[in-house]
Amino acid sequence: MSAMSEASDTLARHGETGAVGLDVARVRADFPVLHQRVHGKPLAYLDNAASSQKPKPVVDAMTAVYEQYYSNVHRGVHQLSQRSTDAFEAARNKVAGFINAARSEEIVFTRGATEALNLVASSYGRRFCQEGDEVVLTHLEHHSNIVPWQLLRDEKGVQLKVAPIGDDGSVTAQDVIDLIGPRTKIVAISQVSNALGTVVPVQEIAAAAHAQGAVVVVDGCQAVPHQPVDVQALGADFYAFSGHKMYGPTGIGALYGRYDLLTEMPPYQGGGEMIASVTFEQSTWKKPPHKFEAGTPAIVEVIGLGAAVDYLAELGMANVAAHEAELLAYATQRLDAIEGLRIHGRAPEKAGILSFTMDQAHAHDVGTIVDRAGVAIRAGHHCAQPAMERFGISSTVRASLGIYNTHEEIDQLADALGVVKEIFG
Ligand code: PMP
Repeated sequence: MSAMSEASDTLARHGETGAVGLDVARVRADFPVLHQRVHGKPLAYLDNAASSQKPKPVVDAMTAVYEQYYSNVHRGVHQLSQRSTDAFEAARNKVAGFINAARSEEIVFTRGATEALNLVASSYGRRFCQEGDEVVLTHLEHHSNIVPWQLLRDEKGVQLKVAPIGDDGSVTAQDVIDLIGPRTKIVAISQVSNALGTVVPVQEIAAAAHAQGAVVVVDGCQAVPHQPVDVQALGADFYAFSGHKMYGPTGIGALYGRYDLLTEMPPYQGGGEMIASVTFEQSTWKKPPHKFEAGTPAIVEVIGLGAAVDYLAELGMANVAAHEAELLAYATQRLDAIEGLRIHGRAPEKAGILSFTMDQAHAHDVGTIVDRAGVAIRAGHHCAQPAMERFGISSTVRASLGIYNTHEEIDQLADALGVVKEIFG
């Protein structure tokens, strides 16, 4: 039995267990970076949707690789290479279990969600889409789930159909389903909007897409770090996410793909690692996932991602979701009490993202002023320009929550916004 199939047989079903409740003080103790002052004020890190901080176990796991057993993977016969390969494939197994993939071979390591979505558009899209076929998106997609489909459109002549966003920032299943027809080949949707926090009813949409023979590509970037994810229950055929938003390293992410689909797809890039044999006349490929992992992978980052999965699994994703939902409710109440502040995105199903504008001040001014109060938030279009344009704005201020955030930090933000009001009147 190969190392890979052994790994599949022992998939760790993470995310199903976990302690009751989240001990935020204990979590914070694991993040050294949080314990510092910025402009003389305690840091309140509320920019988790852009990227999250890393706990000690992730940093330690990566240091341990470099200090104890670093080597290239899959090729060496020597002991260090075997240890690195075992740790690398164990991480794949952890990721598979975390999102409930049926087998670990369904996890392709990529640089992040962006590369994962480009992989699907380039490989699956180019192979299976013809002129006149349709790709259905929503208006709230991140640019990473728009531009790869535009590239496909320009090359293959497919049509993009875009489901609308309601005034409260929601996307209903029906609005997406109305666009799905016999020519639909791909439905590509976010599970959670990074710009508005909207949770999209993926499961219902996926069932309708499958009924028309389309495949469903889910951008799970803002879901995986914040709620339990089960790709099989969702009906995702492909599911993309990034390590750096889930308390793991940068430069690593994953594409989940149904094994039968990955088998039918052509390689995305060619090179070492992904081949079975090469001659000048013809080359043959390894099976998935290695077929899609050309070149030396991000070995240490993959192992770090595995450690991040372990960390989240131990907290329990249901606990993480409950903590952030409670904090979102509190933050919404605090921000709503500020005159002239408008929250964009009030979908009934919403994740821990607060996007807002203030009558008095431009988003970038707000960002700069709250930074002086030690509060890290984001100001801009959040790589979702069509979603901004839908609300007639070019940018928002965005506070985004994570496992280590507290009520005190929300108060710190609200107080800093009070200063913005004082300055701009
Ligand atoms: N999709 C969504 C919803 C995101 O929030 C992001 C990151 N902002 C991405 C895709 C792209 O992720 P990355 O830059 O890590 O590839």
